[in-house]
Amino acid sequence: MRQPTLFIPHGGGPCFFMEWSPRDAWDAMAAFLRGLAATLPERPKAIVVVSAHWQETGFAVTCAEQPELIYDYYGFPPHTYQLQYPAPGSPALAKHLAGLLAAEGLPVHEDAQRGFDHGMFIPLLLMFPAADIPVVQLSLAASMDPALHLQAGRAMASLRDEGVLVVGSGMSFHNMRAYGDRRFIPVAEEFDGWLRATLEAPPATRDAALVQWAQAPSARLSHPPRGEEHLLPLMVAAGAAGEDTGRCVYRDRVRETALSG
Ligand code: ZN
Repeated sequence: MRQPTLFIPHGGGPCFFMEWSPRDAWDAMAAFLRGLAATLPERPKAIVVVSAHWQETGFAVTCAEQPELIYDYYGFPPHTYQLQYPAPGSPALAKHLAGLLAAEGLPVHEDAQRGFDHGMFIPLLLMFPAADIPVVQLSLAASMDPALHLQAGRAMASLRDEGVLVVGSGMSFHNMRAYGDRRFIPVAEEFDGWLRATLEAPPATRDAALVQWAQAPSARLSHPPRGEEHLLPLMVAAGAAGEDTGRCVYRDRVRETALSG
């Protein structure tokens, strides 16, 4: 059974596992993530997560048998540093994935030391709470070159036919200075409208437009140069989608301005 390829929002830090004001700020997103597994054709045999929170010079792949968690968020309540997600890694899948990227001429290496960051374990705690499906994380390439990330996605598209779920984990809006500022609502709406239309366009049109994402309306106000790492996982997911047309299955506004397609 062929698995889909997903781009999901992962919220802010461990947001789903603590009190917020307003109390329901993240409830809709949490419910969306909890419901995703039921929409899949079957239980994934393994998961490849591309997190906004890991960048390397080239692409890197976690290859430890049991990667540890990296609590890469700061200033949150102590209990959020005790969250556990003991999903196994998969050295075999890591090698397979690295081979697929290398075959396309992409720079890639396996990393036995790197653990799972919160872009992986926070959403997967909701999506697959049993933590019993092997997971491999793929880094972003620090160049943030959209074409390179689309190419990486295409290189790994065949994994979907092997029952592997590809998950890009980021946000469709990520300007830290804009959160809580209602003046950014039209900015976020404009970029979100472009993004949604682009993702639902025919695949060739979609991929050509994504390469030029920074020229889209309100693009740089939605993802400033130090914010685009939250959009880049989408490029990998779109590349892995191949000839499948995208579909927006979730839309939300969090902290007034964040939209997540
Ligand atoms: Zn993040």
